[in-house]
Amino acid sequence: MNFGMLEAVTKQVDVVAQRLKLDEGIYKRLRHPDRALVVSVPVEMDDGRIEVFEGYRVQHDNSMGPTKGGVRYHPEVNLEEVTALAMIMTWKCALMGLPYGGAKGGVCCNPRTLSPRELERLTRRYTAEIFPIIGPEQDIPAPDMGTDEQVMAWMMDTYSMQRGMTTPGVVTGKPILLGGSLGRREATGRGVCFVVLEAMKKMRRDPKELTIVIQGFGKVGSVAARLLAEEGCRIIALSDLQGGVYNPNGLDISRLLQEGKEKPGWSVSEHREGDRLNQQELLSLDCDILIPAALGGQINAANAPSIRARLIAEGANAPTTPDADSILQEKRIPVLPDILANAGGVTVSYFEWVQDLQFYFWKEREINERLQDIMTAAFEHVWDSAREEGTDLRTAAMMLAVKRVADAKRLRGLYP
Ligand code: NAD
Repeated sequence: MNFGMLEAVTKQVDVVAQRLKLDEGIYKRLRHPDRALVVSVPVEMDDGRIEVFEGYRVQHDNSMGPTKGGVRYHPEVNLEEVTALAMIMTWKCALMGLPYGGAKGGVCCNPRTLSPRELERLTRRYTAEIFPIIGPEQDIPAPDMGTDEQVMAWMMDTYSMQRGMTTPGVVTGKPILLGGSLGRREATGRGVCFVVLEAMKKMRRDPKELTIVIQGFGKVGSVAARLLAEEGCRIIALSDLQGGVYNPNGLDISRLLQEGKEKPGWSVSEHREGDRLNQQELLSLDCDILIPAALGGQINAANAPSIRARLIAEGANAPTTPDADSILQEKRIPVLPDILANAGGVTVSYFEWVQDLQFYFWKEREINERLQDIMTAAFEHVWDSAREEGTDLRTAAMMLAVKRVADAKRLRGLYP
């Protein structure tokens, strides 16, 4: 996973800094995180052994407000990757007009090999270690790869116990019963669906004619698949960690979701109504839209030349390396960048936080409508500015986001 993500993300800032003629001091400040905390997370395993895991919380920039970003549990998590992901969060929140800066957290572990009790102890100790720098007005974690609503419930409980008061607003992506928001679970996939449909309107394509390929069938990929299928699109291939499945006539997404519910540890590659295929075969399928919704760096210089999609929508964070980006530009394949395409999650996390602070909860219809308004407005803004500036969509989105943060920094000045 570690393909030099930090270098790639910093390079994007370099490119737009030149185009925006950013003040040198502000540019230097934007290339560095505000804070990075590395913690040891000792955990008593079920057999009585003590294991020590390494955890991180990085806050990239707090010019626009408290920082916000997910927590990833994965065996390849490291400080560099978490820093890159925190930086991406700064641009994502700025692009969507949310009053947040970017942060990210992670623990280097394999959650699939931990028992529920071990996972709980790991989560509680990690939360206790990062306690001094998180809080509803300071930095608000959320789920990411390998973490879910239950992990958020443990984080919320640990923080609340330490403070001596229940504090739902310290994390988002919680269970509804504990102050979670309706619509949060589906929000990232729903956002991907909104921007894909907006792009198709611009390209004058009918959703019912579209063929779609999705890498990753987790919280993002499975929801995007379901909602796009409901719009009449044909989902012709899907994959997860164990492999993929391909059916040119379209996969039955409700059936796949049902199979997943019935069998723990199930993989899409076990689905009978289609042919098996591997990740590389999946990425190079002829299709209208390719949605990477798994790890970073999946579309790279090695496989970009063989990509045959007409459009890429980045459900994952940083799934395309800079080299691959240049190849895709030469091939004239537009890319809806991560900071736009997967921003639905943080947007509804923002709604959840607002509801928690007010102890007043909204209806799901209201949430989805507000999400659609924000995603559509951001899409239009990026699309128009790419036209005006004569750039690709990623550069346009980054220019809008970086300019917002740089303007906030200029207005606030430099302390002391
Ligand atoms: P998840 O853990 O729910 O699902 C990840 C999926 O990817 C699983 O199906 C897994 O099997 C698959 N996968 C893992 N490694 C793979 C590989 N090598 N090849 C193919 N598939 C693989 O995670 P998620 O929350 O759906 O996150 C997916 C991506 O979306 C991540 O990059 C994450 O940062 C990004 N993202 C998530 C959210 C959110 O709200 N969950 C928001 C914004 C961005």
